Amino acid sequence: MSTLTNQLKSNLKETFGFDHFRGLQEQIIKDLIQGNDQLVIMPTGGGKSICYQLPAVIVEKTCLVISPLIALMKDQVDGLRANGIHAGYINSSLSPQERENTLHQVADGNIKLLYLAPESIGYVSSVLKKEYLSYIAVDEAHCISAWGHDFRPAYKKLKFLKQSMPEVPMIALTATADKATQADIVNELGLINPITHLDSFNRENIFLNVQPAHKRYDKILKFIQSHPNESGIIYCLSRKSTEKLSEKLTKEGLKVGVYHAGLETDERNAAQEAFIYDEVQIICATIAFGMGIDKSNVRWVIHYNLPKNIESYYQEIGRAGRDGLPAEALLFHSYGDILTYSRFFEESSNEEFQMAKLLRMKEYADAVNCRRKILLHYFGELLEENCGNCDVCKNPRKFIDATVLAQKALSAIARVKEDEPMGVIIDILKATYSNEVKEMGYDQLKTFGVGRKLSKTDWQHYITQLINEGYCEIAFHEKNHLKLNPLAREVLFNNKKVFLAEPQKKTFSEKKTQNVTQKTDNQETIFSELKKLRYQIAQQEDIPAYLVFNDASLREMAEKKPQNSAQFLGINGVGLRKLEVYGDAFINLLKNYGSSKKQKGETYLITYEHLIKGKSPQEIAQLRELSETTIYSHIAKLFEDKKLTAVEDFVSPDEIEQIKLAKEKIETETGEELQQLKPIFLELDEKISYGKIRIALNF
Ligand code: ADP
Ligand code: MG
Repeated sequence: MSTLTNQLKSNLKETFGFDHFRGLQEQIIKDLIQGNDQLVIMPTGGGKSICYQLPAVIVEKTCLVISPLIALMKDQVDGLRANGIHAGYINSSLSPQERENTLHQVADGNIKLLYLAPESIGYVSSVLKKEYLSYIAVDEAHCISAWGHDFRPAYKKLKFLKQSMPEVPMIALTATADKATQADIVNELGLINPITHLDSFNRENIFLNVQPAHKRYDKILKFIQSHPNESGIIYCLSRKSTEKLSEKLTKEGLKVGVYHAGLETDERNAAQEAFIYDEVQIICATIAFGMGIDKSNVRWVIHYNLPKNIESYYQEIGRAGRDGLPAEALLFHSYGDILTYSRFFEESSNEEFQMAKLLRMKEYADAVNCRRKILLHYFGELLEENCGNCDVCKNPRKFIDATVLAQKALSAIARVKEDEPMGVIIDILKATYSNEVKEMGYDQLKTFGVGRKLSKTDWQHYITQLINEGYCEIAFHEKNHLKLNPLAREVLFNNKKVFLAEPQKKTFSEKKTQNVTQKTDNQETIFSELKKLRYQIAQQEDIPAYLVFNDASLREMAEKKPQNSAQFLGINGVGLRKLEVYGDAFINLLKNYGSSKKQKGETYLITYEHLIKGKSPQEIAQLRELSETTIYSHIAKLFEDKKLTAVEDFVSPDEIEQIKLAKEKIETETGEELQQLKPIFLELDEKISYGKIRIALNF
């Protein structure tokens, strides 16, 4: 390995705690250090930030980061500081004095990364010089393009940066795969001979699930209930539906926030913050929500409505599972959404373009084969094998000979002279006396009632497939009437065979079976303890919990149970600073559970068997070659499980008294309810074990 490769690898571990680079990260960093301009295209959640954050640690001067949202700048800087990197930001919320101080630090070379919104560029003119800046990173660079869906006029101002400092390398980063937008970025920023890095768009950890919208509220509720305490986003089409949905979910006892462009800036920022800080579990939002949010423990994203194109969909689901752990994207597909959009689009100047994009989205939702293949193909990538992590792969569709079904549907379309939408066709097939049927006398048709046996949803499913397979189509300009294609004649008159996928009967989340690693109950308990500790630390430091450690790191801790600093540093996500500041608290907690080698099976139940036989904790510790502390932690667990009830068998009344007093004392001093055992342990001069404290507090 070259020296630079080695250095980058150790920087990645020491500073960010990660063991390996993902995808093209290493190459991008090398190109940046060598002074090249670059355009980087990586999916949402792919890991763009490291590409400009890591080299900032190595080079001498400051890296200027242009990032769109003032509200999120503080979190980004907090995240860097948690890793021991000197970072700052400048925006209108700072006082002139604070801004001045920060600029001085830049001039003195004491700040590695300076975050700035394009609107604030005027504040920093004094340091926009090659003497001070090592390179400039433009994040969410698609905001510069009027083609893009997040156009922000202030990004246009950035052109002068490259013009006035051509020697300072610039790296532009985006998740937008659209070619026109990419060309726009290069032109508008004036990048000089940029290297383009297009990383894979595959986000393997996201389970892709599409379900019919029928009874979607019930399905959503069930889904959330099967994902307790997991953060998630629900995207809705309208402001009103975000509010309605959040109201209903709140009534179920869930903690839910709302975010849409109709709220005041303050309200929006507060909702965003509550979500980032895990104060609400769920956010019901319009697409206005999400850009620049790096919350790594979003475990699921639900689309209440069909997104209007695949780009938006992919960007939105990309916000789940940034930490690389299994995550789920659940999309509700309704035919009604297509009609709503087609009405919206009629008023826009590029109706056909938008409609074409929507139809690709619809094809994805209707797909009867691997969904990931379709997505990646859309972004120009070929996936050779089926992904195995979408609802179709998990539950392959069964194809049946549907020739007779197809003949019935197509003939109904013919008999109404191709002059009715899908709903009326289904009414005819099912012999429903709807207004249209009565008015037009369709009950006299030969096809009236020939499809009684199937449900309305099943008919929708089959007719949609007939549309997708090209037998008929929807004329959006003619009140959504169904029209026959030449292929339909083959079916109606030449007996052409038609094979269609059966509707899915099983509609629910596969989450429980998709986890790659089998987690034991014990690991789940440790994981939730670790989460509590993380939340506590985050509150003390006033930063979002995921900035302390992400879920992936906590999962690994729960599995490996590191017992000392060296082992703790081995966890992905633990760098030197986090080891130093958080190491003790986490290691202490994990010590209660013993190392993973000894933890095979339900070890505390073995302790239980010995106790029943009348052995003392000391004897069991000797017998099992475990520490007494570990045995006491087993006993504490047995109390929690109510397998044991007589506390005084293990902790003397005097000890119980001391523990309770210590707890009260600490709580009076801090004015808060105590969640951790450590302060009590320390207060009692480390004389009473953690196990005993746990047992006593359970009492
Ligand atoms: P993007 O900006 O591309 O949407 P981020 O830069 O926010 O994505 O990164 C997404 C997540 O991936 C973050 O939680 C980050 O800590 C994590 N990450 C990035 N690079 C690595 C890596 N090499 N190893 C492990 N995790 C990583
Ligand atoms: Mg990002």
